[in-house]
Amino acid sequence: MDDLISANRALAERNNELDEARRALERGANHDSLTGLLNRNAFERDLAEALNVEGMDVILLYVDLDRFKWINDTFGHTVGDQVLIVVADRIKRFASGIGPVYRLGGDEFLIVLADNAEIENARWISDSILDVMGETVQTPGHNIAITASVGLAHGKGGQVTPRQLVANADIALFEAKNGGRACARELTPGMLQEMADHRQLASELPNAIKNRQIIAYYQPQIDARTGRVIGAEALARWDHPRLGVLAPAAFLDIATELGLVASVDRCVMRQAMLFAVSAAETGTPLQSISVNLSADRLTDPNLTTDIQALWVGQGSRLAIELLETIDLDDVADGSLVSDNLRRLRDMGVQIEMDDFGSGRASITSLLSVQPDRVKIDRHLIQAATRNPIKRQVVSAILDMARALGIESLAEGAETMEDVAIIQGLGCPQLQGYAFTRLPETDFAAYLQARIGYASGDRVNARAAI
Ligand code: C2E
Ligand code: CA
Ligand code: CA
Repeated sequence: MDDLISANRALAERNNELDEARRALERGANHDSLTGLLNRNAFERDLAEALNVEGMDVILLYVDLDRFKWINDTFGHTVGDQVLIVVADRIKRFASGIGPVYRLGGDEFLIVLADNAEIENARWISDSILDVMGETVQTPGHNIAITASVGLAHGKGGQVTPRQLVANADIALFEAKNGGRACARELTPGMLQEMADHRQLASELPNAIKNRQIIAYYQPQIDARTGRVIGAEALARWDHPRLGVLAPAAFLDIATELGLVASVDRCVMRQAMLFAVSAAETGTPLQSISVNLSADRLTDPNLTTDIQALWVGQGSRLAIELLETIDLDDVADGSLVSDNLRRLRDMGVQIEMDDFGSGRASITSLLSVQPDRVKIDRHLIQAATRNPIKRQVVSAILDMARALGIESLAEGAETMEDVAIIQGLGCPQLQGYAFTRLPETDFAAYLQARIGYASGDRVNARAAI
């Protein structure tokens, strides 16, 4: 009898142990080991369950730390982990009791508000989270300032899939990041439309490049003293069959995402070189023709052979304008960038630094690249036309360029008043809406119409347009 009792007790204990082990396994399967929050498994299960209820209002809050990678890189992963633990506690403080909090991995947290959630609740949680994130995180040895961005999306059970709702919250989060971070955005129909348009254009761009829908528009570059056209900048346009002529802002980011920006640059460069040749043949030669070059194109090993194949140098100089993300501060000898720049120079191609004074192109890069010409950013020029202090900044840039033997051109001369101010500063070259920008045929006609226009002492307003 005693044996039986003790055997039963042992069995009960064993069962308890097994139950405990099963619970621990479940906890492990559904919880994040770092923060103790629910994990992705639990999130997918719970969201699917909530959206299974026909007509149920569900709101997702997608919380993402700003610059978490920087924190990890700067302070190390142990400190990064401590930050995540503090952040998890902060989020839980406001959300618990209203909706469960999940950590999907990295610095991504989600809160699900189900049971006919109300947007006011979601906004309150999101505002509270943004507020509390403003407090610095204290870890041994560090006081770390953090911020977070939040994306909110609403959906109804039976009308939206879990995948769609997460994608929608992600779009809203993306907008929050784009809106300068440390803020919250709710998904709007406008954002969805924008995303759909973006996807549509992205699906069309590869064929558009093949089908020669990427065309060049030309903007004249003017000698500020004589008013003569001394060159032209080729600017990419997408001649879209349904949407009309699209500006680069509508498609360059997409081209970059798809790794196609070098192809866009190549299309524009080819057209520009052919145009310069035909302009010379029709008696309106341009001193120089400028094209914009992305980082991808500058590191393209085929860049120089492409130019050699087409550039027959009919009296015009080819100039390349170095743009945006090219890190020019540190052009190491022997890098593809420095090799390409050297080969381009050897071929007689002029190197220009675009958007100087925009904050992207620095003085260090000016010294390391030693361009032939700087183009002073149109925002700075516009500011200078209104503000005497900014005018002094432009004046200082012009002095510096002169001292270094670099030519300079002011971009963004929009009116004849702007032209007069820029001339007053002694800037030798100009470009801007004051002097039109046109598709190829119209620009050819513009050049023809200007033949014989005598050089004046100062730019004549009427003649220059
Ligand atoms: P960017 O190189 O600074 O080109 C000048 C931009 O300023 C052009 O805009 C031009 O239309 C505009 N602009 C010219 N004059 C004025 C003015 O007086 N006032 C104002 N507010 N704007 C003026 P666009 O054509 O929309 O090009 C925008 C940017 O797209 C360019 O800026 C350049 O960064 C990029 N881009 C254009 N074509 C190409 C290309 O073929 N390849 C690459 N990679 N980028 C290109
Ligand atoms: Ca440019
Ligand atoms: Ca520019």
